[in-house]
Formats: sequence, structure tokens, C-alpha cells
Amino acid sequence: MPGFIKPNSFQNFLHPIKTRIAPTPSGFLHAGNIFSFVITAGLARDLGAKVLLRIDDLDQDRVREPYLNNIFETLRLLEIDWTEGPADTDDFMANWTQLSRLDYYNQTLEALKNSGLVFACNCSRKQVGETNNGIYPGTCLNKKIDLDRDDVCWRWKPSITEQVYLQDYAKGTICHSFIESQQHFVIRKKDGMPAYHLASVLDDNYYKVNLIVRGADLYESTLLQLHLAKSIGLTSLEKSIFFHHPIITDASGQKLSKSAGALSIRSMQVKFKDNNKIFEQLSTQLQLTRKINNWFDLYLGYKEKNSHLFS
Ligand SMILES: [Zn+2]
Repeated sequence: MPGFIKPNSFQNFLHPIKTRIAPTPSGFLHAGNIFSFVITAGLARDLGAKVLLRIDDLDQDRVREPYLNNIFETLRLLEIDWTEGPADTDDFMANWTQLSRLDYYNQTLEALKNSGLVFACNCSRKQVGETNNGIYPGTCLNKKIDLDRDDVCWRWKPSITEQVYLQDYAKGTICHSFIESQQHFVIRKKDGMPAYHLASVLDDNYYKVNLIVRGADLYESTLLQLHLAKSIGLTSLEKSIFFHHPIITDASGQKLSKSAGALSIRSMQVKFKDNNKIFEQLSTQLQLTRKINNWFDLYLGYKEKNSHLFS
């Protein structure tokens, strides 16, 4: 069982507070994304935090320009503001793409290669998926495959026994045992790019983000990233505050992003034509009773309904 230690007031030790909205341009945004943005921007307003727009485009096979445009269109349509980050798609491509930080990622990858903290694995996705319910059983751990081969990914090597401390927005400091099934997570993908967890940790460090809002489905990812950050000497993540919001579901309990009725914001725009109708629709999806005129009303409605998360 995790242990709890309540902090006095984290606002006193985080200065300035900075959070981020971090969409991936691999599809049109849906209501689930929007609620996550609304909670992030709302918390930021409550706490006087800066908001970074950080678009995760490292998975270039899935990135499409219309999806990138859709991120800016949606944020503008809903009037959700950010204080740092790209102004539009062109600015993003010129100055903010993750590809512009490849040298920074590669420095860490090179250090990891020399540290003995990673091992090479040439198992196919299918092989890993077929064995042990998708949990990597450490097949290549002792094979000593050359890390420079171009058909391998790199996985985390150490057997993780230590505990991880997570600063939870509502609950205070939580001490967790590491999740054993995740311990050989991928650090570098077969295409040579840093995997999601490494890129995410490095980017949050690069931009000095210290308030991380994400869905509860990423709780395990948080533990893993905390462990990773500490192991590579980035101590800032352990001091960051995490707010994991429960996954937002529709009235039938289906996750919004997966639900058959979940419209992309783009299709809502086509269907409803005006913003008020879109806010009405979002409010109905959250089953709020408050009158909603803008994104901040949505946040306040959500906060009223889920006050235990904000105490
Ligand atoms: Zn393997």
C-alpha cells in the first residue's frame, strides 16, 4: 500500500508554477482531449501557473498536418490560452517540433548507452504481445545483443526494487513500490528515436514544467517516469506536482475517446456551427447542471462535481 505524507503547501516550493497541454497530432481532437485541456488550463488559472503548449510529434509516422492545424483551431475556438509554445503550425514546425530537440535526446541516449542501464532487444512487437499478456519477460536481458544494431530497441535493464515518491495534488506525497511488470520498458525505439517516456521526461525537464495534469490511465506511466528521471539525474520531476484526473466517460460509462458517440471537435463544429452549442454538448457529456458559457465554466462545473480531487 502506498504511504501518504501531506505537504504543507506546494505553492510555496514551486516557483514559478508551469504546466503543459501536450496533445499528439495523430488524430482529430475529441471531447476527452478537451476536458484534459480544460482541467489543465483551469488549474493553471487557479494557481497562477504558466501554460506551455507542447505538441508531441516524435512519432512522425502518425503525424499529419491537418491534425496539427486542428490543435490550434480547437484551442482558439474554445479560447483556451497558453503562455508559451508555438503560435501556429508554421511556428511549431520551425521552432517547437520535438525533432529540433533530437541532439538533446541523443545526448541522454548516448549517456545511457555507456551507463549499462539499457540492453538491446530484437523481439518483435508480436513476440512480446504473445507472451505473458504483453508484459516483456526479459527475453533479451542476458543476450548481450549489440546496442548499435539497427534492428533493436533499447530497454531499461536494472531490476527495480526501490520506491518512488509522487507529489499528488490532492493527496500529498505518495510513496509507491515500482510496478514490476513494467520494469523493462522501452527507452529507445527500433527507429533510433527516444521512446515516449524518455522524451516526455526530457521535455518536462527542458521546459521546467512542474505541474503535470494527465488522465488516471497514465498513473503507471508517471511512476515509471519518476523512476527514470531519478536514475538519469533529473531530480525536478520528483518535486513536480501531479494531478491525475479520472478518465472521463459518457453516460453509459464508456471512455469518451473510445465511445461511439464521441464526436471530434471538428465534427461538432460542423454540426453545431456556434460555440455555445459546443459548450452545451461538452457540458451534457460531463453531466453538469451549471450553465456553461465558456471553457472556464466547464472547469468550474467539473471542479464542483469532483471537489475531492481539488482539496
Ligand atoms: Zn527481447
